[in-house]
Amino acid sequence: MRYISTRGQAPVLTFSEAMMTGLARDGGLYVPEVVPALSKAEIAAMAGQSYEEIAFRVMRPYLGSTFTDAEFKGLIAKAYAGFGHAARAPLVQLGPNHFLLELFHGPTLAFKDFAMQLIGQMMQAALAKTGERVTIVGATSGDTGSAAMEAFRGLANVDLFILYPHGRVSDVQRRQMTTPSEANVYALAMDGDFDDCQARVKDMFNDFAFRDGVRLAGVNSINWARVLAQVVYYFYAAVALGAPERSVSFTVPTGNFGDIFAGYIARKMGLPIEQLVIATNQNDILDRAMKTGDYVQNGVTPTISPSMDIQVSSNFERALFDAYGRDGTAVSVLMDELKAGGFHISQGAMGMLRETFASGRCSEAETTATMQRIFAETGEILCPHSAVGVKVAEEHLGDAPMITLATAHPAKFPDAVEAAMGTRPALPPRMADLFARPERVTRVPNDLGALQTLIRERIAR
Ligand SMILES: *Cc1c(COP(=O)(O)O)cnc(C)c1O
Repeated sequence: MRYISTRGQAPVLTFSEAMMTGLARDGGLYVPEVVPALSKAEIAAMAGQSYEEIAFRVMRPYLGSTFTDAEFKGLIAKAYAGFGHAARAPLVQLGPNHFLLELFHGPTLAFKDFAMQLIGQMMQAALAKTGERVTIVGATSGDTGSAAMEAFRGLANVDLFILYPHGRVSDVQRRQMTTPSEANVYALAMDGDFDDCQARVKDMFNDFAFRDGVRLAGVNSINWARVLAQVVYYFYAAVALGAPERSVSFTVPTGNFGDIFAGYIARKMGLPIEQLVIATNQNDILDRAMKTGDYVQNGVTPTISPSMDIQVSSNFERALFDAYGRDGTAVSVLMDELKAGGFHISQGAMGMLRETFASGRCSEAETTATMQRIFAETGEILCPHSAVGVKVAEEHLGDAPMITLATAHPAKFPDAVEAAMGTRPALPPRMADLFARPERVTRVPNDLGALQTLIRERIAR
């Protein structure tokens, strides 16, 4: 299996090379040259299997010779052993034909654990074979950083640096990043906002001398291995509700387009998905693009679903690559136009996107109202991101069962949940001591040179 860049100018890589590289050297994102299909019989045979077994069957065709089957099964087992629910991704029923896929039973209470836990195990195992070390630097608005800290702490061949905007993450998110005590993980509180953090990480990747010198690797959702790990729960949930005999629909609360792109891949592999619905909060660039064909930035407004407050939806580039007939030059032109504020999607490409995705948006008032109503109707407490999904899903109910992805546990966003519901959601018992653990954090300036010096010093320890 070979991986190519969406901009067509970077080297073709193997799975493990693409996983270690993150961003392609031409600025593009890696995608598989061919998406492998699973037969109807292979999908039917997943019925009743464990999450881990389905994970193996869905991901195995993408890995080439990176791991033996036995090795890969061992890594999957380790990745999900720390989850707080035996089903890993349980389904809960909200209404006659509407289901919630709870993706928040991992160690940091958000769906990002599904990919991050596995990528931690895969990177460590691949590096251990050659004895190499890598330095991972990531930017976070909260959830990616905490998931990465939890996944990489204590791994022998990896140093991890997470940049988060000082004072702008929730207390739970911050403590999940600052309380791991292992020497190979570092929480860096940077002066600035999330876009500043992301910009400094991009600068480091574009400084090829630094990038090669520290063997820089990335774990933001542009990393193909993260998308791949998320494809699994689409199969798991669909098969539980009768696929492949019966089609299902999914609604996905999205910001960076990573999670919903995994659904798109599941469908390309042969999973019968009727509707694939994009749900945005009031930062609705994706919903506007689907309705108008214009992908135009108009600033980020902070919301109570902060993990979706973005205006550059990185993984959308992967969908555009397919919509433009895999023409890397066309994608490069669009991305250059984006630097100046936006681009217009051609009629042909819009036709493909509208055939593939539906979309909707949810205001702040609608988010709160949905949390209150779903609690009254079902007793389920939704996090604000999941509430955005549920509201948009309800506008798209049809004959096929609708599955809305619940992306975080309500206790990860206690202030927003308390404001909407009047009661403060409790952390699950297994992490009840989070606020008693000592914190370890370094304040850093928004300065590329200073950050590079700090990283070089720490990895030389
Ligand atoms: C990251 C995140 C999202 C958005 O996921 P994308 O893959 O960026 O679309 C939604 N909800 C929560 C809780 C998240 O952490």
